[in-house]
This record gives sequence, C-alpha cells and structure tokens, in this order.
Amino acid sequence: TVGIVGLDRNGKMAVATSTSGLFMKRSGRIGDSPLSGSGFYADSEIGAASATGVGEDIMKGCISYEIVRLMEEGLHPQEAAEKAVNKLNQKLISKRGEAKDISVVCMNNKGEWGVATNINKFSFVVATEAEEPTVYIASFS
Ligand code: ASP
Repeated sequence: TVGIVGLDRNGKMAVATSTSGLFMKRSGRIGDSPLSGSGFYADSEIGAASATGVGEDIMKGCISYEIVRLMEEGLHPQEAAEKAVNKLNQKLISKRGEAKDISVVCMNNKGEWGVATNINKFSFVVATEAEEPTVYIASFS
C-alpha cells in the first residue's frame, strides 16, 4: 500500500490509498483500500486517515473513519490512531486469538499527525513546510 494524507495551504485535506492487494489473493477480492471509511477517509473540517495491512481485518473496524471520528471528538491524531488500532487489535485477539497487520497514518486539519501499528517496524514519511521529507519507523506499543 501507498497511503498519503495531505493538507494544503487553504486548509483542504485529501487522502489516497493505493494497493496491489494481498499476495495470492483470490480473484475478485476487493480488500479495504478502495473502501471509504476502511482504507481511507477524509473530512477537511476534521482530518484524514489511510490504512494498510490485511484488509479483511481493517474492514472489521472501519478504521480510517474511526480515527477521523476520534479526532472530531478532540483527540490528537496520535491518540486517535493508537486508540483505534489498539481497540481493533484487542477485539480481534479476544474474538479469534489473533489480529493480522494493521497500520495507519493520519493528520488533522491543523497539520498535526499520528501513526499507529500493531506490527514491528512500520515505516512512514512526514513532510511539512518546516520539515524536509523524513523517514520514521513506528512499532507496536
Ligand atoms: N490493505 C491491502 C489489502 O488488504 C493490502 C495492503 O496493505 O497493501 O488489500
């Protein structure tokens, strides 16, 4: 997946999520990436989020919408991302004993960003007017 969340100078937000799907996927499988609310969601009044990982699990949490909803409630993007990923991760583990890969990037309409993952070493890039594109690595916490 390549997921991008952007905020322009006029305060407009956009999100894009592209994917080739999963290795050995069944013919006709759609996955989460093209589904609004699961693989991506943006609302310029609040923020935007993009997800990557195993779509079958991501879809169970509508996680991109959930993150934007939490930001609307006033959570910082980092808190929103962690809360949504940890909640879905816990739910899947308690229901069936495991959770597949789930990682998210998000930003609010003030340009504050957040990242969360349930894997080790999820890499992402942040670029702002003040910061040259910088690669970071997040891990499950
Ligand atoms: N989320 C995608 C899918 O399940 C896979 C990916 O992250 O690229 O189709």
